[in-house]
Amino acid sequence: MVIAVLAALAADGLPEAALRYTSPATPFLHRPFQGDFPNSGVFDHRAPPPVNDHRQLTAWGVRTWGKAGHAGYDFPMREGTAVLAAAEGVVEEAGDVGPTNCGGRPVEHDIRVRLRHEVDGRAIHTAYLHLSSVVVKAGDRVAAGQVVAHSGNTGCSSGPHLHFGVFELNERGRPVAIDPYGWDADTPDPTLRLPLRHAEWMWLDGEAPLLFRPSGRSTADARGDVRITGFRGMGWQDGRYPNNEFVMVGVRTAGPRRVDLSGWRIRNRAGLVYTFPEGARVHRGEGLRVYSGTGVDGPDTLFWGRAAGVWNDEGDCVELIDARGDVVQVHHQGRREDDWCGTGAPSDGEPGPRPPRDGGW
Ligand SMILES: [Zn+2]
Repeated sequence: MVIAVLAALAADGLPEAALRYTSPATPFLHRPFQGDFPNSGVFDHRAPPPVNDHRQLTAWGVRTWGKAGHAGYDFPMREGTAVLAAAEGVVEEAGDVGPTNCGGRPVEHDIRVRLRHEVDGRAIHTAYLHLSSVVVKAGDRVAAGQVVAHSGNTGCSSGPHLHFGVFELNERGRPVAIDPYGWDADTPDPTLRLPLRHAEWMWLDGEAPLLFRPSGRSTADARGDVRITGFRGMGWQDGRYPNNEFVMVGVRTAGPRRVDLSGWRIRNRAGLVYTFPEGARVHRGEGLRVYSGTGVDGPDTLFWGRAAGVWNDEGDCVELIDARGDVVQVHHQGRREDDWCGTGAPSDGEPGPRPPRDGGW
């Protein structure tokens, strides 16, 4: 299958150089941190090369927003979070390469770590950017999972996060950016048309960080006692695994101990509606999650029952509607600062840009 796709692309003018980076490596990457963090930028698979339109193409073929041409993954996390070596290897670079010019904005510090790994005879690098401190030095040998640095907000960064990237040096010694999540859509990978881009799955079983967007924002205060308290829209392949998505509702702090949600509804921008089942209740201090996919309803977990995702990764609106039919809250998930998802007709055209999280790649 893969070979057939490549052959078709080659006949279609695929640069020969791109074919040199298609041999599958043995998965070798460990998660570069403990736990899960939301994701504010993905590896951009689009071709031709980036224009600065703040759009990215995910490894599963979905358009989303972020820094165009981004060659890694951004994980917002508190400054000082331990950053772990994704594999055993040798420290190529560790420390401050600043000052750095970020598109006219000078920043004093730009703290990075780059590790070199030997995998199946290939020299692969992992890069960790925007750090606050490093705990290794060039030449050190590190084990997988060893703490090599602490996360931060240095370099071209608009908020505390870790940028994680993978590279391989080609025959000319130029770094080829690799998407370690590979490519998992039905169409050919546009990255293959870019000579210094490549994609292949590199994570060990269970080690790939979850990819999901953090919650959006609510423009209007929820009326009444119940509000949307959490939302996860875009997730890794949520078209196939719709339970990567959820909406969480809760009772406001000064509200009643519990609220009966029988007949309440959740609606997306496309008009898909979920109705809370008879007897569904939410308790103060506890969240009630509505997952998009199928499952068995429980006291704090409900399932919409859809075979595919509900929420548009490009941006969507989560409306919470009470049993009387009143919209009590509108929650935005998207990029645009103005009210494109409000109560009126959806605006036409694409949602506008939102500042990228990161300028480092
Ligand atoms: Zn980044």
